[in-house]
Amino acid sequence: MIENVIGRYSLPFAVATNFRINGRDYLAPMVIEEASVVAACSNAAKLFRESGGFTASADDPIMIGQIQVLDLPDLEAAIDAIAAGKADIIAQVNARDGSIVARGGGAIDLRARALRSTAAGDMLILHLHYDVRDAMGANAINSAVEQIAPRIESITGGRVNLRILSNLSDQRMARAEGLIRCDLLARAGFSGSEVAERILEAAAFAEVDPYRAATHNKGIMNGIDALLLATGNDWRAVEAGAHAYAARDGQYTSLTKWRQDAGGNLHGEIELPLAVGIVGGATRAHPGAHTALKLLGVKSARELAQVAAAVGLAQNLGALRALATDGIQKGHMRMHARQLALAAGADENEAHAVAGQLIEEGEIRSERALAIVRERRRST
Ligand code: NAD
Repeated sequence: MIENVIGRYSLPFAVATNFRINGRDYLAPMVIEEASVVAACSNAAKLFRESGGFTASADDPIMIGQIQVLDLPDLEAAIDAIAAGKADIIAQVNARDGSIVARGGGAIDLRARALRSTAAGDMLILHLHYDVRDAMGANAINSAVEQIAPRIESITGGRVNLRILSNLSDQRMARAEGLIRCDLLARAGFSGSEVAERILEAAAFAEVDPYRAATHNKGIMNGIDALLLATGNDWRAVEAGAHAYAARDGQYTSLTKWRQDAGGNLHGEIELPLAVGIVGGATRAHPGAHTALKLLGVKSARELAQVAAAVGLAQNLGALRALATDGIQKGHMRMHARQLALAAGADENEAHAVAGQLIEEGEIRSERALAIVRERRRST
């Protein structure tokens, strides 16, 4: 799959449970090294489930390919020439890419943007909109923009430099929303309405403060990335798109919105670009990804995007509910203690006892874990 390989590197493969999306049940495969993510996601999905589950939707899988044109004799004339030649250029792309066109996809639009007085002078940026069907589509769209570049040069009289997709795939948005009954939110000495109130305060913080929004969105991506990694998708591409979208208005903000309805129930929604595929890339080449997609049972890239959006929303609720009540350390420390025990040389059977002792002593540190493991070795 890649170059200079010296081995394989494995990570835990888990399933998040309790997802009900558009009336259908899903087990969400997740590959991740961070403790607590899968448990928090499953618990939060259960809260949504008990109030009816998620409603999700996704746009048609339209990707954007960019072509950068420089050294133009006349920028305005170039824009006019592109408008006049657009139908032909689209036909040229679709005549070549038979496989995606046969499945109902292909190029659908070509738009021009002028970027003036940049450090490299005026430039014309063309956006080829391309329906990639069930693929993530990077290769399909990169081939298409490379293919038409010479034609663009001859039509505009300019020089083409870059020809590459944009990871800000904002024509390919996915969204999910859901409700949690107020009484289900109660936890650890807090009533349901107190928890709802505290979650709304936390959400308001993330809406206005980029320092908080970055962490808020990182929590969302904990779930989405784990699903993407499990299914062989390019999680860096989705990360790049999500964060660029979160900053679309000039200030980086939260990818979710939370409000309370008249009955005091909490309502959450998420919207983000989700360029994911169920064919192409590693989705079929990697046996683990193949299994994950089978387990998930999605029939299209759009359906996978809907599941990913719901997973992101569930993960956000899990984090907000913990942060706004007990804090997240309490749950984390147990897993952390176990990891320290394993790192100190405890075997699978001892790890539980060593972690328990670290927690009991209130000293969850690697030195103490090493000392406990050594003591146990001496006494056996
Ligand atoms: P791909 O190159 O494997 O192409 C998908 C192919 O699958 C299509 O060309 C089509 O022939 C075939 N196909 C079969 N059934 C299909 C269906 N139902 N719908 C659509 N196509 C179908 O994969 P891709 O999705 O074009 O590219 C994804 C890969 O590109 C990822 O591995 C990603 O990491 C990589 N990549 C990403 C970037 C970026 O994000 N900036 C840049 C370059 C490459």
